[in-house]
Amino acid sequence: MIQTALDIETIRKDFPILNRKVNGKPLVYLDNAATSQTPQQVIDVIVDYYQNYNANIHRGVHSLSQEATDAYEAARIKIQKHYNIAKTHEVILTSGTTHSINLVANGFTSFVKKGDEILVSAMEHHSNIVPWQMLCERTGAILKVIPMNQNGELVMEAFHDLLSDKTKMVFCNHVSNALGTVNPIKEIIEASHKVGAAVLVDGAQAAPHIKADMQALDVDFYTVSAHKVCGPTGVGMLYGKEEWLNKLPPYQGGGEMIAEVTFEKTTYADLPHKFEAGTPNICGGIAFGAALDYMNSIGFDAIAQYEEELLQYATAQLLAIDGLKIYGTAKNKTSVISFNIDGIHPYDIGTILDKLGIAVRTGHHCAQPIMDFYKIPGTVRASFSFYNTKEEVDVLVEGVKRARNMLL
Ligand SMILES: *Cc1c(COP(=O)(O)O)cnc(C)c1O
Repeated sequence: MIQTALDIETIRKDFPILNRKVNGKPLVYLDNAATSQTPQQVIDVIVDYYQNYNANIHRGVHSLSQEATDAYEAARIKIQKHYNIAKTHEVILTSGTTHSINLVANGFTSFVKKGDEILVSAMEHHSNIVPWQMLCERTGAILKVIPMNQNGELVMEAFHDLLSDKTKMVFCNHVSNALGTVNPIKEIIEASHKVGAAVLVDGAQAAPHIKADMQALDVDFYTVSAHKVCGPTGVGMLYGKEEWLNKLPPYQGGGEMIAEVTFEKTTYADLPHKFEAGTPNICGGIAFGAALDYMNSIGFDAIAQYEEELLQYATAQLLAIDGLKIYGTAKNKTSVISFNIDGIHPYDIGTILDKLGIAVRTGHHCAQPIMDFYKIPGTVRASFSFYNTKEEVDVLVEGVKRARNMLL
């Protein structure tokens, strides 16, 4: 029996999309690691913005512009508080994790040189691999990989061996989107700092499950996408320590990011605006703040506990299916289950599940090196959120059994 402090039936009423049918069946949404659903409370904030105070921010003297600016800056403070960030201007609003990582990787071009080393974990999302490869191509720095074991855990002895005074930066996700592994980022950050390397943690997949504390972690950079925490797409956060953000050059030029412009010389705006060129996703930023309010009203401890129960329940049920193998069996993992059934292509399972109204993801999950490690083309990934139920797990398990019988 799953016992939770959360009233899941009431929570589900907040998510209108959960009432819809897909292919004639009630939607069972288990693709939360790709994007989360949006509660009415956040939808209302989006509608309210466009109905009542849509205006460009920061530059206007008129009332609407003031209201929009106040709401946008209030959201920045919500994000700051949520992540226990020391200074408001250390919160850079971006279009999401990918944008945040590119901003930092680009900025580091002048800080790394030929022969320097950059460490990246074996279980990164492509968005935390490709920008560093591009940085290495520009600078002649060398990319080294922190290996993982069969359970999908980083091999920490190997990480410590790789660290040296050549290491300039270390990149790692907090939680792997493909496997659910929660990485020991505190240990990674401490050890990296001892050799003078900066650390960027990709928090995109941790955000819906773990309330990360920037000051306690002492991390240099941390990235989040709002759409994985019940917010809209196209907006996210880059947290950077003030000293780093002051050192990094701007990423994009344009309006908003300048102090003064002449054709001879331009001086840049103060933080955070130096990194926020152009009109931002104003409504998205405001809704991002509302999404964190919503998640906090439910409570991250209760969410983590309930999702752990769902994970245990689903893992046991799925493993009982003949020929089913789960990839990613780390001791410390979030509610993500990547699996395959012997002799069946993941895509075929996903297609049959969709016919049954069940949304899962199939493929390499933007983490091809992980699939190469396990020598598989991809997996079926079911990822659970606090609004999923035990009954939905049962529907998934029945669906997978049915797919197996049809395909074998
Ligand atoms: C989703 C995700 C990303 C990419 O986020 P975008 O919002 O697409 O920029 C990066 N890393 C991880 C671990 C993710 O889960």
